[in-house]
Amino acid sequence: MKVTLSHLTKIFPGRGRGNKKKEDVIAVNDFTFEIPDGKLVGLLGPSGCGKSTTLNLICGLQKPTEGQIFFDEEDVTQLTPQKRGVGMVFQNYALYPHLNVEQNIRFPLENLKGADKLSKEEMRARVKEAAGLVQIDELLDRKPAELSGGQQQRVAIARALVKLPLVLLLDEPLSNLDARLRLQTREEIRRIQKETGITTIFVTHDQDEAMSISDLIVVMKDGVVQQIGKPQEVYDNPANLFVAKFLGTPPINLFDGRIQDNALLIGEEKVFTLKDAPNQPVHVGIRPEGFTLSKDGVLSCHLSRPEVMGRDISIVSTHPASQNPVVRSIVDAESCEHLSGDTVRFSLNPRKVFLFASETGNRIPFETL
Ligand code: ADP
Ligand code: MG
Repeated sequence: MKVTLSHLTKIFPGRGRGNKKKEDVIAVNDFTFEIPDGKLVGLLGPSGCGKSTTLNLICGLQKPTEGQIFFDEEDVTQLTPQKRGVGMVFQNYALYPHLNVEQNIRFPLENLKGADKLSKEEMRARVKEAAGLVQIDELLDRKPAELSGGQQQRVAIARALVKLPLVLLLDEPLSNLDARLRLQTREEIRRIQKETGITTIFVTHDQDEAMSISDLIVVMKDGVVQQIGKPQEVYDNPANLFVAKFLGTPPINLFDGRIQDNALLIGEEKVFTLKDAPNQPVHVGIRPEGFTLSKDGVLSCHLSRPEVMGRDISIVSTHPASQNPVVRSIVDAESCEHLSGDTVRFSLNPRKVFLFASETGNRIPFETL
């Protein structure tokens, strides 16, 4: 099932009257994009940027102020949640504590009416299939209190799958799990999505999570879509400063810079000669992997310490024009053998360097000579 959002907008009116009236909140501002059939799309952005509201609009729990939602070619904007065929999983698993796992998973099937009504056998078969998909067949007799957080979240996913939804919506489903379970469960979600082929929208504020499991990511800020694309494409080609800062661990390094007479300057150091670039102040973003240690490199930093990160080494240094307390570069271990003294010099890979307009944060394309 393809999901299309067309000029989707949700405004929460500010409360109160007269002078005390609070401003309206535009939680979702003119979203227009398509979620292709059978793909897993990650909605990514900081807390409060409108991710949950977007999901609630898609599943029908909330009505948009403006705009439309289509499932394939059908306009579902006015349909009730029940009529949309959507499965939803929330951050807090919200299982019924007095029901066992089997009963929890079966619950949505028992309310089906009319032509959708299922026999006992059909329900049993559906529950078995859903439990098998999330690999909790052994736990069907247990109560939620007798399960780990990860197992509870699997039950919640099975409960969403049991109705054979056309679209699966997951709202920060891993936030309540500890780090290891989070990694494991996200792989599980990816596997289940591939196995079932259900169009899935996965909401998270964790860029690493979104990057690792999504076919496409939608980066949002303050209710406005910033960029849509494959995770690697967005990482390699951020549309603006916000997206560049939001993606990547360690995060992108930012410097105060300027373009002057076709030279790119970081602080007072000239790092590149540019082709036809108008003079202006810029933010210079450099990915940690964009630095190479080099005796006559263009950027000189003050060495703080090298940190071993397995195969690679992270060099922590400082630079007077850096906007962050430290500059983090990742280089291979061999190139560090000759590291000595207080100063490190780096050459820069232009494809890992991004320029953003000082005032707007918009990306400024450039070519080096
Ligand atoms: P996210 O899920 O990305 O953290 P939300 O979609 O929950 O963000 O919220 C987006 C914005 O809308 C926030 O500013 C939030 O305070 C506001 N908001 C969400 N729900 C309501 C509501 N029912 N009434 C008023 N404002 C709301
Ligand atoms: Mg939310």
